[in-house]
Amino acid sequence: MRNRPDSFATLAIHHGYDPMENEGALTPPLHLTSTFAFETAEAGGEMFAGERTGHIYSRISNPTCDLLEKRIAVLEGAEAGLALASGMGAISATMWTLLAPGDEIILDKTLYGCTFSFMQHGLAKFGVIVTHIDLTTPKNLTEVISDKTKVVYFETPANPNMRLVDIEAVSAIAHANNAYVVVDNTYATPYLTQPISHGADIVVHSATKYLGGHGDVVAGLLVGSAELVSEIRLSGLKDMTGAVMAPFNAMLILRGLKTLELRMDRHCASAGTIATLLEHSYGVQKVWYPGLDSFEQRDVAQRQMAQFGGMIAFELEGGIDAGRSMMNKLQLITRAVSLGDAETLIQHPASMTHSTYSPEERSLHGISEGLVRLSIGLEGIGDVIFDLEQALPKRPVYSAA
Ligand SMILES: *Cc1c(COP(=O)(O)O)cnc(C)c1O
Repeated sequence: MRNRPDSFATLAIHHGYDPMENEGALTPPLHLTSTFAFETAEAGGEMFAGERTGHIYSRISNPTCDLLEKRIAVLEGAEAGLALASGMGAISATMWTLLAPGDEIILDKTLYGCTFSFMQHGLAKFGVIVTHIDLTTPKNLTEVISDKTKVVYFETPANPNMRLVDIEAVSAIAHANNAYVVVDNTYATPYLTQPISHGADIVVHSATKYLGGHGDVVAGLLVGSAELVSEIRLSGLKDMTGAVMAPFNAMLILRGLKTLELRMDRHCASAGTIATLLEHSYGVQKVWYPGLDSFEQRDVAQRQMAQFGGMIAFELEGGIDAGRSMMNKLQLITRAVSLGDAETLIQHPASMTHSTYSPEERSLHGISEGLVRLSIGLEGIGDVIFDLEQALPKRPVYSAA
């Protein structure tokens, strides 16, 4: 035990692992095992009864996943963590644990497409009341929350249009009504925002994105109190979804976390420069980036984000046709969904990640048809700018005659 508090990067590299307990191996071992031996029949029985600690079966826990769970918990400032097969696995395991028919979940208007579909078309089918409101104005919650409300759920920044939600204000209202606050922190990562310190009860992640960071794994994580995380492990994960993370994938996320701080600093710096440049580019109608002075919720961004992230949303004059034409001219920036990778990625939410919404739902939920989403990668920023500039609309040249 060192006698000073460790910084974020140090925790991301060292927390929960001592090489001397593992034959000196610098890198934690990968435990490729489905099941675990019991010393005696009685010991096995006690583990099942929860009277003795230890691993039983890898759908419940695994030492490699366990290390990742400890690490994400400390980085998020939470008591406990849980590793799951995907971001959707984390979200669905949480909801199957917390909600029952007749309970209400209140959601922000803008959600990642599959989350929207899970809630709106999935949970609703099982008798959960699904209510969408604009949580960017917290007092809207005061008006609709009731004793039926069990969960308040939102992303900040939201995928894809960068809306922010004031975690502290929303948590205060939710807690006064005995509702849980669940925050999807995929965009910000714990390096930029720690929702638990602002009052959230559970934080979920698509670890596929920045936490993994290299576009080579689909994975999910969640954190919260030891009690809630244990409930989700034993119900939502073990029995209701079986959405376990493979130990190999846990190893990839542990590797990604080691460089999270370094990568986020670069993502944020490059995105800040490119957002400003886009805002001054010909043919760009509007740019949404929390670091811009023009960003409507600049105050919330400054209160709850250490930096402003690697994601940018923008809209060209000429809407979707102009957006498609620009995307097709790109030579370096890759046309692909997902985000948080080393490669700069671009996509069109209305026809791709958010096609799970109907056009009416998109317009109702603040996702315009012409919106383009950029995930700024780690390439040399000059190369990304060069590619964007050659693809953006050109200012018409008029002859003097
Ligand atoms: C990608 C994403 C998800 C879903 O995560 P998967 O790992 O793809 O299942 C959930 N929320 C947000 C904000 C996302 O970007």
